[in-house]
Order: sequence, then C-alpha cells, then structure tokens
Amino acid sequence: MTQAVCILGVTGSIGQSTLKVLEQHPDQYTVFAVSAYSRLDELLEICKKYHPKIVVVPNEKAFELQQRFNQENLKQIEILTDEAGLITIAEHVDVDIVMAAIVGAAGLLPTLAAVKAGKRVLLANKESLVMSGDIMMQAAKQNNALLLPVDSEHNAIFQSLPHNYLNTERTGQPQLGVSQILLTASGGPFLNHSLEQLKDVTPQQACKHPNWSMGQKISVDSATLMNKGLELIEACHLFSISEHFVTVVVHPQSIIHSMVQYVDGSTLAQMGNPDMCTPIAHALAWPKRLATHVPALNLFETAQLNFQSPDLVKFPALDLARQAMRAGGLAPTILNAANEIAVAAFLQQRIRFTQIAEVVENTLQTVQNAKAENIDIILQTDMIARQIAEKYIVGIGG
Ligand code: NAD
Ligand code: MG
Repeated sequence: MTQAVCILGVTGSIGQSTLKVLEQHPDQYTVFAVSAYSRLDELLEICKKYHPKIVVVPNEKAFELQQRFNQENLKQIEILTDEAGLITIAEHVDVDIVMAAIVGAAGLLPTLAAVKAGKRVLLANKESLVMSGDIMMQAAKQNNALLLPVDSEHNAIFQSLPHNYLNTERTGQPQLGVSQILLTASGGPFLNHSLEQLKDVTPQQACKHPNWSMGQKISVDSATLMNKGLELIEACHLFSISEHFVTVVVHPQSIIHSMVQYVDGSTLAQMGNPDMCTPIAHALAWPKRLATHVPALNLFETAQLNFQSPDLVKFPALDLARQAMRAGGLAPTILNAANEIAVAAFLQQRIRFTQIAEVVENTLQTVQNAKAENIDIILQTDMIARQIAEKYIVGIGG
C-alpha cells in the first residue's frame, strides 16, 4: 500500500524537492493533493505528471485553472480555493503525510490543521511554528501527530538526538544527557561584507545564496541571519529547550547541518552535501531511510570545515530573534510579522537591506506583548504587527 501525500506549496523550492524524492519511490508514495499560489504553468505540469486528486489555488486563479484542466483532459482533478481549501487537504482523511512548505504566516492554519488531524507533518514552514510555538507543539501531542523537521539544521539535530528524545518530558531543559545544541549557519552571501557595504546590497545579491537554492523570502532571511533567528526559535519549540542551550555557529561550507553536544564530552553532527532532498527523504520515511539522488559526501574533496561566531553587530536580526524568544508570549509572532513585511519592502526596493532589522526592532518595541493564549490572539497580533511595520516603513521613506 502506498502512503498519500499532500504538498502545501508544491510549486516552491521545497515543494519541487519533495516531488523529486517522491518520484524515485512511486511504489511507496502517491501525490494526493497539492497547493500553489501564483505559478499555474508549473502547477499544470505537476498535475500532468502526478495526477493529484485535489489542487488548491487562490479563488481568482480557479477559473483559469479549470479552463486549462479542461483543455488538458484533467477534468477529474477537483479544484478547491483559498485557506479553506488548504485546510481541507491538510486534514483530509485520505492523507497520511503533509508537507508544510508554504512560505510565511500563510502556512499557519493549514499546518495546524494537519497537526490537529494527527498526520505525519513534515515541517518546512518554520514561520508557522515561530508564530504558534506552544500551541502547535501541544496540538501535536494531543492529536498524536508526528511533527518532523525538514529544515536541514533541525533535521540534523533530530538525527543527532537520542532516538526517544521526542517522547521525553517537555521541560525546557536538555534531557537524556544532552548538554547543548549547536545550530549551524552558513553566514549567507554577505558573511564577509562590512557594515558599510551591507547598506548598498541589492535584492538580487541577497537572493544569491552561496550553498543553497531557495525561495526569495528565506534567501533574504539567510542574508540578514533572521533565518537563523527563526530557526533558533524553531529549535526551542521542537526540542523543548530554552534558548540559552542553543548556540549559533557560523560554518560557511554548509556540510555539517547542526550538532548536539552531550554531558560526556561527545559532539554528534549530521553531515552531507547541501541538498534539501536529504532532510525531506529523512522526514518522509523516518525511522526508515529512503534513497535519494544526493551523492554521498566526499571528505577528500571537502577538505576544510571552518567555524566562527556570528557577528551580531553586522547581523542584529539574530539577536532580535533571541530576545523575542526570551521575552516569549507574542514576541516571536511580532518579530515574524514585521520581518515578512520588511523583507517584502526590501525586495520591492522600498528599504535598504540594513533597514530590515530596524523595522523589526521598532515593531517589537511598539506592539504590546502578551501571552499567546490562542490562535485568534496570534492572528490578530500578526495583523497589527504588519500594520505597524508598514507604517514605520512609510515613515522612513519606503
Ligand atoms: P518558495 O517561495 O520557493 O515557495 C513557497 C510556496 O508557498 C510556493 O509554492 C507558493 O505557491 C506558496 N505560497 C506563497 N505564498 C502563499 C500564500 N499567501 N498562500 C498560499 N501559498 C503561498 O519558498 P521555499 O524556499 O520553498 O520555502 C518554503 C518554506 O520552507 C519556507 O517557510 C522556508 O522558510 C522553508 N524552508 C525552505 C528551505 C529551502 O531550502 N528552500 C529550507 C528550509 C526551510
Ligand atoms: Mg535551515
């Protein structure tokens, strides 16, 4: 019997890598449902190849998609729309595995729906966990969902932790002999830029990551190190560990994907060529292993692995995220919302690269923090933080 997979965000970088892994194992997985946002041409090609039962697109794209389905003899594929459609496929009774690969806050409710439906949820959409932290983790526990990290660092940490770690009590303290998590960061494309040079970098330069090919938003996040900040928060929630047990280590080669240190002096690392198909395959099949096309690491060619501390003056976003995690409550939601708005403004060339962190910092100072009691408060705060961030951007001339 094959397992039915739902891919939220199938046309994105992670969505495409997921298809690449599934394609190698048609005897084990079928693509049951997919969602896309703007790229209908890519979606149509995916539908021709994988014949999903359901697709989800924004309402304004549905008519055009139906016409194209009619032309291509794909009439049997059901079209659903908007957030309601995303939630329907995420919690569908016939779905076994949900790949949460929508970018940003738009992924929150569909990802949470999959968790509440007790699915195996492969989490790429880190923003949803940053926003909803405890609520998402509690929902996973209550509904026996298996929330598995696809983010390469968290997948590496998961692989380096004791195998029963996910079942330990959630205390914020490291368990089972673990002493510390070492979260690795490539440092992004501007690792060796001066603060002065950072002021003039363009969106195009920011989106050109040295080791990974990714969507635009995460590429900019990697360049500001906000991505590492979001990942720090993600790690705290996934592994129930408070932020001072997580150290960020800059490792420009992206060969070690993160490490776990133990009280006996051991440090365990997961290594591999930087290709998201590896963590995707791991999360799909865990505790089994799936073959991928990713070549095994050749250490003779790799030659050098370097490590350094992150520069928090050049990359203040990382520290803003750590402070938000420390503050708790709605602070990570505010941080994430402001960052999404600031990154979009930078991509539209309305603000400078160095102003992204400035927008986030100002929004964190302006929006009132409170307990993240339920999802409605989180969504409301997300909206308010977006408005405040936008207002600040306009105020600085953006
Ligand atoms: P991407 O921009 O390539 O793809 C994003 C996907 O989300 C697309 O399919 C798009 O159609 C969909 N989408 C965008 N806005 C939407 C909206 N408002 N409503 C519904 N769908 C929408 O992004 P990506 O690089 O694939 O990243 C996806 C997620 O995975 C992000 O949260 C990112 O942080 C995370 N992630 C990505 C990588 C990577 O290597 N690309 C690695 C680790 C984690
Ligand atoms: Mg990552």
